[in-house]
Amino acid sequence: MSSNRLTFDVVVIGAGPAGYTTAISLAQQGKKVVCIDENNCGGECLNHGCIPSKAFLNAAKAYYSLDEMKAFGVNVSKKDFDMKALQDWKGRRVVKKLTSGINFLFKTKNVEYLKGKAFFIDKNTIRVMSAENGMIDIQTSYAVIAVGSKFKTVSDLEPDGKTIFSPKEILEIDFIPETVTILGGGYIGFELGFFYLYLGKKVTVIESMKTILGELDEDLRILVQDSFKKLGGEIHTSSTFKEFKNSQVTFAVGGEDKQIDSQIILVSVGKEWDFKPLRIHKLDNLRLNENGSIAVKETLETSITGVYAVGDCNGGPLLAHKAIMEGTVAAESIATIGNKPSRKRLIPYTVFSEPEIAYVGMTEKQAISKGINYHLGIFPNSALGINNIIGNKIGFTKIIVKESDSTIIGAKVAGKNASILIGELTLAIQKKLKADELGKIIHVHPSQAEAIQESALSALKQSIHY
Ligand SMILES: Cc1cc2nc3c(=O)[nH]c(=O)nc-3n(C[C@H](O)[C@H](O)[C@H](O)COP(=O)(O)OP(=O)(O)OC[C@H]3O[C@@H](n4cnc5c(N)ncnc54)[C@H](O)[C@@H]3O)c2cc1C
Repeated sequence: MSSNRLTFDVVVIGAGPAGYTTAISLAQQGKKVVCIDENNCGGECLNHGCIPSKAFLNAAKAYYSLDEMKAFGVNVSKKDFDMKALQDWKGRRVVKKLTSGINFLFKTKNVEYLKGKAFFIDKNTIRVMSAENGMIDIQTSYAVIAVGSKFKTVSDLEPDGKTIFSPKEILEIDFIPETVTILGGGYIGFELGFFYLYLGKKVTVIESMKTILGELDEDLRILVQDSFKKLGGEIHTSSTFKEFKNSQVTFAVGGEDKQIDSQIILVSVGKEWDFKPLRIHKLDNLRLNENGSIAVKETLETSITGVYAVGDCNGGPLLAHKAIMEGTVAAESIATIGNKPSRKRLIPYTVFSEPEIAYVGMTEKQAISKGINYHLGIFPNSALGINNIIGNKIGFTKIIVKESDSTIIGAKVAGKNASILIGELTLAIQKKLKADELGKIIHVHPSQAEAIQESALSALKQSIHY
């Protein structure tokens, strides 16, 4: 790029999962598109979110599993866990490989990529301040905002990368603290909490709400809670953080102050939005939601014609797979004028905890509150052959079936690979399958997938192995 005035069909601001998917999908549909990011491609997900956190969890779980392997004859003596080696591997072999993969995809799929900070001059003009190319003004027919969200902070707890961390900074840590306090009992806090528990460290979660992990069904919550405690973790709900000083955390619970030793504190209290750097005041009447995210229609168009918002920046659920889906919907909406694709899809949820949990469709709580009569198909992990081999005896597969016509309306899985198993159940619900249709599908033996068939049979009171 040499000129400081460029013209594109579409400008996408942000190269996270939402932005890079929109850009690639638009290019595939013949649009001239530029994707701009002030940081490395891949956004939060690849650089300091989904991917690095799972790299951490995978390594710590492998370390933890060495003890379990003794039961079937693998005797490996546990040495120290090398945090610097993990950081090196995560940085070079995982994050760098995947983020440069996005750059490669941009090249091969004809997406122009520009590194720089972007902001609006008006809805058809976006200015980019680029270290390499200086100031560039881009004329465009469409703009797609894909700038993500940011972590909420707590006063007096500004992340310093030494003793105070956000979920972003903690994924760059190069030492292993003995004691960790996590403010916030959401899924990110818990995943990072399990990382330290697998390494044998003391972890305490302080949550202001009555329960952890938001709106989960109770059976899933109890499993996570119990295993967290079994691994030595502590959970304090209905608790208010007061102070972190001299390696001590003070919090109030039931009108009483409590103190715990804590080498570091992780602040994971949710996300918020700040669109001032984007200068959205230049876009007259860009409507925001009550929580500060950008309001969108089902097509992902904002209140301004030709301006779209995808991924975290338009509100929850703040998940990469929701962001990716929205990228394709926005691209289709822009590329095929007149077509009105919708983002209304089932979104599966996973918590990479111990055990891993996943759910999709209607929860039991939602079914009850909507007055829907349902029954459950239940299959416990311990009843399945493969689970006794791979050490996956805690947990279950449950499907929620509408009483009136046996349609599967919800599903939940707890145990190893729940994130994979929920895929088939998402398909079943999306396609409005009935329990007997799912129950007739042959699944490989021995495999964890058998639990899906068995839970469908259980809903019909025809389970074979339970
Ligand atoms: C620890 C952790 C674990 C997670 N685990 C999971 C998980 O397991 N599964 C899951 O689905 N989700 C997970 N998430 C959430 C996931 O990372 C986000 O939902 C996802 O990255 C959102 O994608 P996005 O493209 O909307 O935004 P982002 O990924 O945040 O990308 C936004 C991009 O916009 C760029 N940008 C912002 N402003 C400008 C500007 N003015 N000019 C140029 N560029 C700009 C930013 O640099 C960034 O690259 C996790 C998050 C964290 C923190």
